[in-house]
Amino acid sequence: MKNNLPEKNAILQRDREKYLIAPSTPGGFVDPETLRKIANVAEKYGASTLKMTSAQKMAIIGLKEKDLDAAWDELQMEPGMVLGTCVKGVKFCPGTTFCKKGQQDAVSLGMKLNDKYVGMKLPFFMKMGVSGCPSCCAESPIKDIGIIGTSKGFTLMVGGSAGLKPRLADVVAKNLSEDEILEIVDRIVTFYKENGEPKMRIGKLIDRMGIEEFKKEVGLWEI
Ligand code: SF4
Repeated sequence: MKNNLPEKNAILQRDREKYLIAPSTPGGFVDPETLRKIANVAEKYGASTLKMTSAQKMAIIGLKEKDLDAAWDELQMEPGMVLGTCVKGVKFCPGTTFCKKGQQDAVSLGMKLNDKYVGMKLPFFMKMGVSGCPSCCAESPIKDIGIIGTSKGFTLMVGGSAGLKPRLADVVAKNLSEDEILEIVDRIVTFYKENGEPKMRIGKLIDRMGIEEFKKEVGLWEI
C-alpha cells in the first residue's frame, strides 16, 4: 500500500495514488517569477491544483510518484513541509513590512525563526507564529510559541494549541526586542528538547509543571 514519501517530501493524497509537494515560501511571500515557476512545474507534470495552505506553503497537488524527483529538480526550492516530530514552518504576517496596522517587524523575526528552527527534531511537533499587531493574523495565541507585536515591543506566549481541546498560550514576557525574543525562544526550545516527552506538546508540559515553575526553568522571573 502506498504511503507518504518523507525522503521525497511528498504526501500521499486521498486518492491513494497522487502526491502533494510544497516548496518553502516562508510567510507565504513569493515573487511573481517563483510563482510562475511553481505553476509551470505543476502544469508540466499534470498536477490538477495549486493551494496556498494554512501554513503559508504553495502546495502542488496531484503529482505522480514517478515525477516527484523531476519536479523537485526543476523547482530548485527547499521543501516547505517537514514531516515528523520537529519544528514546523513558522507562520508570520506582513507586519510593519507591508501592513498598515503593523506595530513590529513580524517578517524579520519570522524569517529568523524559520531559518533557525524549521525541521529541528524535538520530542513532539512545535508550531510558531509571529503577528505584527494584536489582531494576531498568524494565530499566535494557539501556537506552541506565539509572538505578538505591540507599540512597546513583542509579547511572547508559550503553550498554545488548536484541535478538539484547544489551549490558549500563556503570556510569559512582554515588551521585548527582536534579539530578546530570539534569546528566550532559544532557551524555551532547549528546555522542551531536554524535558519534553513523545506526544506531549509544550502546553501539556506547562500544565504538568505549572506556569511559574516553567518560567523559572527558562529564566523568566517576571513579566
Ligand atoms: S496581525 Fe496586524 S500587522 Fe499582522 S497582518 Fe494582521 S493586522 Fe496586519
